[in-house]
Amino acid sequence: MIERRQSLPASAPGCEAHALSLHFGPGANDPAAGPKAVIQCALHADEIPGLLVGVHLRHELARLETEGRIRGEIVLVPMANVLGASQALLGSHIGRFDLGTGINFNRGYRHLTPALLNRLPGQLGADATVNTAVIRQASRQLLDEWQPASAAEALKRWLQRQAVDADTVLDLHCDGQALMHLYAPTPWAEVGLSLGRCLEARVVLLAEESGDDPFDESVSRHWWELKTALGTQYPIELACFSTTVELRGQADVCHEVAQRDAQGLLAFLEQRGHLATGSATAAAAPAVGCTALPLEGVDPLTAPCGGVVVFARALGEAVKVGEKVAEVIDPLTGQATPVTSRVDGVFFAHSKARWALRGERIGKVAGAQAFRTGKLLSL
Ligand SMILES: [Zn+2]
Repeated sequence: MIERRQSLPASAPGCEAHALSLHFGPGANDPAAGPKAVIQCALHADEIPGLLVGVHLRHELARLETEGRIRGEIVLVPMANVLGASQALLGSHIGRFDLGTGINFNRGYRHLTPALLNRLPGQLGADATVNTAVIRQASRQLLDEWQPASAAEALKRWLQRQAVDADTVLDLHCDGQALMHLYAPTPWAEVGLSLGRCLEARVVLLAEESGDDPFDESVSRHWWELKTALGTQYPIELACFSTTVELRGQADVCHEVAQRDAQGLLAFLEQRGHLATGSATAAAAPAVGCTALPLEGVDPLTAPCGGVVVFARALGEAVKVGEKVAEVIDPLTGQATPVTSRVDGVFFAHSKARWALRGERIGKVAGAQAFRTGKLLSL
């Protein structure tokens, strides 16, 4: 295992920070040695389950490396957001947004397709494998040319640069309180479902473009966009599967669960060819099946007024259009206002707070029919 440290520019004199990546397998020294996978933990720095999963993965990957079972390179970024890790405001940890700018740490990555379409003419040919290498090289160059204006941008560039030439990218997050679920690219629905089964996830939410350039899309989206734009002239592969794994809720942090999730991720890495056959423990068949649904079909339940939030349904329950999922109670009047679902679907996530302000998102129901457009993610 090789440790690499990346210094980030100091926001102020004396405030240097360093990001750390751990590189396992023969590919750590030889990029030609085989496939590459990247797993990063807690890009939203207050989403702690991924950090503990990363601790278990570190031990397991070290063992698998010793046994010679890693193919190519597996990169583990055990704490993806060293900047957000130290942010606090009035006693609360703030890990989702850069406190200085209010910008989400998981937005604003580079959408590479327009620049690649300018750069690639004359470089592509009749061999799909060669084209993949050419596109990866051009992508690395584009990110090397990115001049970050802030420490947060430098962190984003480092993360995207590290994952942009990978075959598999797993970005470990969590929700407030939630069932295990994933965000995956629509063209990769079947592979997303395979990962969902390894992790006993309930839903895989599919989109080609979620809006505002989250990290996971920034390393995979250009492949299908280039295929659409240039695929009639040149063979172009979908060379990167990337996903955001939502490891349940923020308080779901315990060794037993983290160990099981780490085993699920390793089982998936074995399926993808990053580990020798027989390296991972086979996942148990999930009690409830995993379903792929469009992200445009998720109803983000919104508080119609401020007040005390009481959920009327449990996570995992099926709900129908018009059914009450929660109520928001005005403690001054005692009046309860119902919050109803706009879709038939699965209630799979809700906020961890029980106080809401008017307009705040308090839960999510995943339906089968796409009905939303525009920006599909929360702030
Ligand atoms: Zn997150």
